[in-house]
Amino acid sequence: MSAHSTSGSAVVAGHRVSPDHYIAGRRVETERRFEDRAPYDRSILAEVACGSEEDARSAAQAAADAFPAWAALGPSGRAPYLHRLADLIDANVDRLADVECDDMAMLLRSLRARVIARGARNYRSYADLAVAHQERDWHSNDTWNRVQRMPAGPAAVITPWNAPFMLSTWKTAPALAAGCTVVLKPPEWAPLSCSLLADLTEEAGFPPGVFNVLQGIGEEAGAALVGRPEIRRISFTGSPETGRAIGVTAARNLVPFTAELGGKNPLIVFADADLDAAVAKAAGQYDDAGQVCLAGTRLLVEESIAGQFLERFKEAASQHVLGDPRDDATTVSPLIHPDHLARVEGFVDRARAVGDRVLIGGERSDAGELFYQPTLIEPASNETEIVQREVFGPVLTIQTFADEAEAVELANSTEYGLSGIVYTGSAERAERVGRAVRAGTVWVNTFLVRDLTAPFGGTGISGIGREGGDYALDFYSDLKTLQILDGTTG
Ligand code: NAD
Repeated sequence: MSAHSTSGSAVVAGHRVSPDHYIAGRRVETERRFEDRAPYDRSILAEVACGSEEDARSAAQAAADAFPAWAALGPSGRAPYLHRLADLIDANVDRLADVECDDMAMLLRSLRARVIARGARNYRSYADLAVAHQERDWHSNDTWNRVQRMPAGPAAVITPWNAPFMLSTWKTAPALAAGCTVVLKPPEWAPLSCSLLADLTEEAGFPPGVFNVLQGIGEEAGAALVGRPEIRRISFTGSPETGRAIGVTAARNLVPFTAELGGKNPLIVFADADLDAAVAKAAGQYDDAGQVCLAGTRLLVEESIAGQFLERFKEAASQHVLGDPRDDATTVSPLIHPDHLARVEGFVDRARAVGDRVLIGGERSDAGELFYQPTLIEPASNETEIVQREVFGPVLTIQTFADEAEAVELANSTEYGLSGIVYTGSAERAERVGRAVRAGTVWVNTFLVRDLTAPFGGTGISGIGREGGDYALDFYSDLKTLQILDGTTG
């Protein structure tokens, strides 16, 4: 991967990227920097600004200063900015995809074909939704009741490394559309695409301070940002552990916060399912090296087809090609960072030690420094760590069930509740099991298809609150009820 960097500038995959903060419409350099490396070949991509408490203060202050004018524009006044940003994202798909691929190692073809374009859709759809769904009013008790959305204030948006660009757009789109100004804290293991996003907001003409990027380490820059008194909303995606820490700060400051957290999601295959489709989807859970919060990592298969399923799954999994995320032939990319590889490896080693059986994989791969083999584990019991804790790597477990009741019991047997995937040939079963699985989203005979107006989030330790559609616009607003007595005249 070709890259060179000095303080204040970097060239990644042939594209110039600023590794500095973006505050009040200006790039802000820092003395302290941290190294950002490519997961694929570990080359240094950039020396990124390391945000301090003072940087967090000035970013939050910039967002606070820009807030009144941005809020006053109203949804229709803000919509053109979001549409221009969406158009610019579409015009820059290759640049954004190339940089994200080097920085995070998501497959380049997925980035180019759908992931970056989804960012543009986020801005477009929230711009339109905020205009279409502004006020609700109805008449009762001789008064008009009118519910209005008042923009909440500056929002802190904190995103993880596994889909930095897409998740940053998913959160900042409703915030900006609702009239909040934003300070985005990108993930330190993949900070660069968020910096490009700042460039595009400038090109789209956003007023200085409406969109700010504070680079840095989570426990330092992130923690300082969420604790700032200017911040009136916190939207976080990441691990349950960090979610708890941010929740404490949010509680102390009485600031509403949403948290989209980890998953340990069941993928349930009934005997009446289309086995080809179920096997293909199950083996596809290794995509992005399993670093996907929504991935169905617990395969639950009906006993009567378990042998057949396993044989076919092994065959499908063996087709995966581990390699350079820029190559079309690659299907499984490297893990993000050596610390994360060690974490994934630790899970598998401990599983072996407690008697769980490794059916496929279970070792580092010789495809490169940060590769881990697609791994399937048959746990010794449902209580074992490998079943109960999110690995966030290419590691799946397989268990069998005798009937629908047992499938649901196993599906709901962890503390998580982000998503569920069900494969069945029965519409009645789809309804029953879809209702019974405890999760924010359940897909039946499909996966990852999402209407952006539907609520999104997790139950249990998978999250607090919902984003998506009106749910997100409500979150970034203070709802006000205005009641006007009939006959009131001017
Ligand atoms: P993480 O919690 O370590 O970090 C996420 C972000 O929080 C980063 O930007 C980090 O710098 C910041 N951060 C860390 N400590 C902080 C603190 N004390 N205060 C403020 N900010 C802080 O998570 P990660 O390792 O980057 O991401 C992986 C996790 O994210 C997994 O658990 C995964 O399931 C989850 N995730 C969830 C969803 C979802 O939609 N539910 C989507 C993607 C990822």
